[in-house]
Amino acid sequence: MFMPATLFIYDNPVSNSFPTVGIIGAGQLARMSVAPALDLGINLLLLAQDSRDSGAQIANHVVGNYENVETVLEFAKKCDIVTFEHELIPLSVIKSIEAQGVIVRPSSAAFIFSQNKAEMRKRLSKFPGPKSEVINTASEASAFPAIAKAISGGYDGRGVWKVNSAQELTKVIEQVGKVLLEEFVEFDYEIAVMVARSPHGQASTWAPTLTIQVDGICTMTVTPAPQLNSEMSAKAQRLALDIAQDIGVVGVMAVEMFVKGDQLFINELAMRPHNSGHWSIEGSLTSQFEQHLRAILDLPLGDTAMTAPIAVMGNILGSTKTDMYRPYLHLMARNPRLKFHHYKKDVRPGRKIGHVNLLGDDAVELIHEVRHALDYMSGEVNE
Ligand code: ADP
Repeated sequence: MFMPATLFIYDNPVSNSFPTVGIIGAGQLARMSVAPALDLGINLLLLAQDSRDSGAQIANHVVGNYENVETVLEFAKKCDIVTFEHELIPLSVIKSIEAQGVIVRPSSAAFIFSQNKAEMRKRLSKFPGPKSEVINTASEASAFPAIAKAISGGYDGRGVWKVNSAQELTKVIEQVGKVLLEEFVEFDYEIAVMVARSPHGQASTWAPTLTIQVDGICTMTVTPAPQLNSEMSAKAQRLALDIAQDIGVVGVMAVEMFVKGDQLFINELAMRPHNSGHWSIEGSLTSQFEQHLRAILDLPLGDTAMTAPIAVMGNILGSTKTDMYRPYLHLMARNPRLKFHHYKKDVRPGRKIGHVNLLGDDAVELIHEVRHALDYMSGEVNE
């Protein structure tokens, strides 16, 4: 049977004052945290589901079930501080390890708002958002169309349904039980504002990012969101900072918003590095991955200024084409400015397996080039 080699990184005694950050989860977000951790000399330990996970391939890790309190506690004992790269760990597990004295950032008191959409709506009721209520039967719905959402566990549009009638809503409720029913916002476009906050209360944002979704999956981002004027941009950043402070989050958080005219509506929160901040790896002086480490360790935060006027990110989604190395030949020759980030995950149709970043000053050209790279990688174009 294939036994993955255990990765062992020598613990240099000179570096003893450098903390060990434990990340629950070992997917691509953990993988992309490895480079800044190496640069800063911070030790990382991942709690992986499998040694072949994207992050576990390149970092110290233990394999274990994040739903099991004893497993997570054992893991936490090897770390100075614990953080997350997904929202799946049960809140009860986070609370149990906190009760044992483990430093968890963000804490359960904030993390709940990224796990439970109903709690998030209740907590953020003083901030602008779609009208919403938790309902058990379709008869409680007052208007259609509406958006029905699973209260927890949804991602990439799974767990979100546009319902046009009571019959359609009934079908959803039969499938998932009670739902969060939201007013359908006919927004002009969607943005995300990445924000970071440290225990000291220092906080920073990056420029708001336009997120382009196809079938509920983010395919591309453009930063700064081209349609936002400076006033709206400042308003969106202010809103993200206010929410971060209000809920006391520590670490990096994505605040997803809808924009309709000059109105902003909060959609949801993710308390970890996020797809809408991937552009920051080359596009900002401080990437979201470095900033998350700085924030949870209560180090002074880094400068989030952009390194170019515009940053475009495109998600590489799995298709039937499995050779993801060969396309480099054509794409790197065609555009030496393209930056590739491959997650080394098994290629499955629709699965996020990497992303490309491109910086410059002409949004139309950048979008065209990124679109071409994605189409070439998926096999839709061959020149
Ligand atoms: P997920 O947890 O899967 O990311 P979201 O809550 O972000 O789910 O919803 C997925 C997508 O559904 C959003 O990006 C947006 O396009 C659409 N959507 C969600 N809520 C609403 C709403 N209240 N009105 C209109 N569209 C919505």
